[in-house]
Amino acid sequence: MGVVRMASVVLAGAVALGVANGQESKLGPENPFYKASTLPFQAPAFDRIKDADYEPALLAGMAEQSEAIRTIADNPAVPTFENTIVAMERTGDLLDRVDSAMSAVAGAYTNPTIEKIQQVMAPKMAAHEDEIYLNGKLFHRVETIWNERALLKLDPESERLLEITYQRFVHAGARLNEADKAKLKELNAEESTLSNAFSRKLLAATKAGAYVTADEAALAGMSPAQIAAAAAAAKTRGSQGYALPLQNTTQQPALEQLSVRKTRQALFEQSWTRAEKGDDNDTRSTIARMAHIRAEKGKLLGFDTYAGWKLENQMAKTPEAAIKFMDALVPAATARAAREQKDIQAVIDSAAKDPGTAAAQQGGFQVQPWDWEFYAEQVRKARYDLDERQVRPYFEIDNVLQNGVFYAANRLYGITFKERHDLPVWAPDVRVFEVFNADGSHLAIFYCDYWKRDNKRGGAWMSSLVRQSKLLGTSPVLYNVANFTKPAEGQPALITFADVTTMFHEFGHALHGMFADSEYPSLSGTSVPRDFVEFPSQFNEHWALNPEVFAHYAKHFQTGAPMPAQLVAKIKQSADFNQGYALTELLAAAELDMQWHTLPASLPEQAPDDFEKAALAKKNLLVEAVPPRYRSSYFSHIWASGYAAGYYAYLWSEMLDDAAYQWFEEHGGLTRANGDRFRAMVLSRGNSEDLNAMYDRWLGGEPKIGPMLKQRGLVQDGAAK
Ligand SMILES: [Zn+2]
Repeated sequence: MGVVRMASVVLAGAVALGVANGQESKLGPENPFYKASTLPFQAPAFDRIKDADYEPALLAGMAEQSEAIRTIADNPAVPTFENTIVAMERTGDLLDRVDSAMSAVAGAYTNPTIEKIQQVMAPKMAAHEDEIYLNGKLFHRVETIWNERALLKLDPESERLLEITYQRFVHAGARLNEADKAKLKELNAEESTLSNAFSRKLLAATKAGAYVTADEAALAGMSPAQIAAAAAAAKTRGSQGYALPLQNTTQQPALEQLSVRKTRQALFEQSWTRAEKGDDNDTRSTIARMAHIRAEKGKLLGFDTYAGWKLENQMAKTPEAAIKFMDALVPAATARAAREQKDIQAVIDSAAKDPGTAAAQQGGFQVQPWDWEFYAEQVRKARYDLDERQVRPYFEIDNVLQNGVFYAANRLYGITFKERHDLPVWAPDVRVFEVFNADGSHLAIFYCDYWKRDNKRGGAWMSSLVRQSKLLGTSPVLYNVANFTKPAEGQPALITFADVTTMFHEFGHALHGMFADSEYPSLSGTSVPRDFVEFPSQFNEHWALNPEVFAHYAKHFQTGAPMPAQLVAKIKQSADFNQGYALTELLAAAELDMQWHTLPASLPEQAPDDFEKAALAKKNLLVEAVPPRYRSSYFSHIWASGYAAGYYAYLWSEMLDDAAYQWFEEHGGLTRANGDRFRAMVLSRGNSEDLNAMYDRWLGGEPKIGPMLKQRGLVQDGAAK
């Protein structure tokens, strides 16, 4: 059923679905969404879809689902699992079609028309969802079936669907009285409008925030290819000179190379203040209001806070459990970050004593956030003699994709890939692959869209165009999007090892979607709680450094020579380098998220900058040189992408994935037997059973924090505290 969409992972799925509030909307056959796509596997006809097609199709989709839901709710027959729960699963196909196609385009290739449609439709979609989950008659039927569940003798997946459906109604407020339901609808509509406004402002702010200079000398330290890319970026935005577009995180990749301190500071400040300039793109009043509305929503739904309500159906179950888990990581992370900072300061100070060695370093100052990456890179070079520029030639993107990402999946699961050129795409850069099982049968369609564009949302994500369901007879059609720096025309497509890791990560989500083998769409693939959904993706990252996989893809783009063993060893040794910084900035963002969402409704709206500072201080995470990975004002995950009170999920999932990889290592590593067992017991199962039970059965016990600290090289720091 279209309403319950959790298939979008990371920054996707900003569009929740909803019904047309009684609006009459008829859709003609000239609209490409009128019927299921006739392309193979119902792949969307991106070549036929025009911007003007979305709005009428969304309205018609909502109206159609409303009508179907009304029919189910008003059915004079006694409520049964088939005529109510399964019937609901069958609703919303038109809405699902148009929403999933539009989400893809809105995320990766948007324009002002689509932005406007999203803005207009967001509150209607929210109202549509409310109309379903706050429909008293429908809930009465669901509740009746729920109360009789012991007598129904349902198969386990059907039992799970009943449980999840019932919980979703209760979670959405089905038990509230009419007055409170009306209040909740208002709060939901306002939250949705604010969330949409946040996205719009942030996209504009990020675009406007690019560092622009006419002076090539300001970019000293960057390679000629990167300088050419900066010149091209300036040209596409109609500026003279050079532009460094902002990435969505606080730290910017170029900070690692820029040797002119003034440039670093300027770029960092562009990033840090991007959405706090007091202009139309300033997001602070929007997020302050949103946090307050969410607190009121939590209270209305019977919880102390929004986070209490939000985590009810997650693996962690309560904010206290998530906070306890994060708090336990803070000492090891900050102790390591402090040691890293000392190493960095030593490099700065040595340069001050001996100005002849490195004029660019200047020296004589305390390390600031904009210095961190630059000097960390020097510490890395000094300690491991590893230079990012040395390794990039071994990471040509197509080679990484086919001989790395696809290869690992082939070794583990036996699947194979064939590029297709007959399916239309949303942008020229997009590639399409058909995926086959080991026996040659069709498994899925996979799109990838890796290069950064100004009309693409920041970050990387996976989402579905068609979700797998045996009930609906559909197989997965899904995609990965990222924001890698595009090479200048004629330059080889070399990426960083961080980009390589991102490809493995997003492909892990894709595998979770591809292997889905569910009867019901609501339980299929990535439709799992937030603190589980990052587990398959983060688990898949581990294969990037697996010796067999690495040797297979890390080859020089010109000579085809394998990466020299010495360089490979350096990459591995340096894998836990800077992990204090990395974990601290993640924890800072995650704790910040949780504090925004554990505000009681009785407090007034907070001033974001003051709140942020106090929140970090309270957790011993106000470290001057290590700012949060996302600042409140550009923390898109929590204000626009479904990760509200959920950013801890990345760390929680890390505990799961590190324990899982350790299991693989203890059982023979990269083998079909291990892969097939993991596919059968976890990756194909979606949300078809309790996820704690599913995980523990596969692992043979409960996950512990130890493998995670070990993986990050923090065992020593953890033990010291
Ligand atoms: Zn992810």
